[in-house]
Amino acid sequence: MLKTIKIIILLIIKLIGGFWLAKKLNKGKTCVLCYHGFSHHDEHLFRPKLFMKPKSFAKRMAWLKSSNYQIVSLQQAIKERGHEGNHVVITMDDGWASTHELGKELIQLNGIPIMLYITSYYMKTQGVVINVALAYILWKSVGKEFQFKDEQLGIDKVYVIKPDDIAAITSDIRAIISQLDDIVERQAVIFRIAVQLEVSLYYKGQLLFRMLNKQELLELAQDQVNIQLHTHHHCSPKEEGPFNKEVEQNKDYILSIMANAQLDHFCYPSGEFYQKQSRWLENFGVTSATTVSPGLFTKNTDLLQIPRFLDGEDVHQIEFEAELCGLVGWFTDVTSYFDNTFSAN
Ligand SMILES: [Zn+2]
Repeated sequence: MLKTIKIIILLIIKLIGGFWLAKKLNKGKTCVLCYHGFSHHDEHLFRPKLFMKPKSFAKRMAWLKSSNYQIVSLQQAIKERGHEGNHVVITMDDGWASTHELGKELIQLNGIPIMLYITSYYMKTQGVVINVALAYILWKSVGKEFQFKDEQLGIDKVYVIKPDDIAAITSDIRAIISQLDDIVERQAVIFRIAVQLEVSLYYKGQLLFRMLNKQELLELAQDQVNIQLHTHHHCSPKEEGPFNKEVEQNKDYILSIMANAQLDHFCYPSGEFYQKQSRWLENFGVTSATTVSPGLFTKNTDLLQIPRFLDGEDVHQIEFEAELCGLVGWFTDVTSYFDNTFSAN
């Protein structure tokens, strides 16, 4: 209901020229867009900010290309701060396998510059991203009773799966399986739960919730996709030692695949950042870092705290346009982002 009211208000503002005026007043500023992976099947209904339908993304790109917004790379937006036009930058986070499986063709077709921030732990291990896959299984099993019985883990527990309890059950099961040292064993538990609840983690032969493999990463890099840093375990430690370790491991892994990559851009996982991290990033030679704080990127923006708009399947076209022209710092709601992220273990 609230969303409908918001859309009606935005339509009225657009009709009376509010978008036109905002765009004019915001000349010289840049809207940095943030995307994640693509949806093979119904993942966009499960996490609309994390998995967008390829068709919806294609529509956004087509609209942008037919508009008088200029799509530029983040590097160009930084170089041309205070330019005369209205710039838009496309960024993608995490490195989901669907970025290649469903996005590669779209990226090639549109010929647009994209910065892709890679988190490396699950790239290295492959398999499914455990907390996201587990939450998906539970989301598909609402109303069912689930007996989690595992002799190796010494567990025999019954859950009744209700929509509001999915997050709590997910973290409970994750805590239990974290006793297993081997990621392969942890993965096996997730697949057994999927079988027990009759949920498939495959769609048309593709494993869902997987991260890019080396070959896929290299192929994307050949298509003007600029690969950059996003920590190894998708986390943002507050202490310098653990934070540096995250960046180092992330950097080392990407360099092990792309020895000549220039890794000087960073994205804070889940948009979580602390002022002191800027200095640590500078020590790594990082020249820009993006958040999911609302707003446009201006010539006064701190380059290590560049705001972005998190686009997704649940964002109406009129909301998208309102963000681009800079009208809705006021309406922005980033809280849902934190429900849509993952951490690696
Ligand atoms: Zn991320």
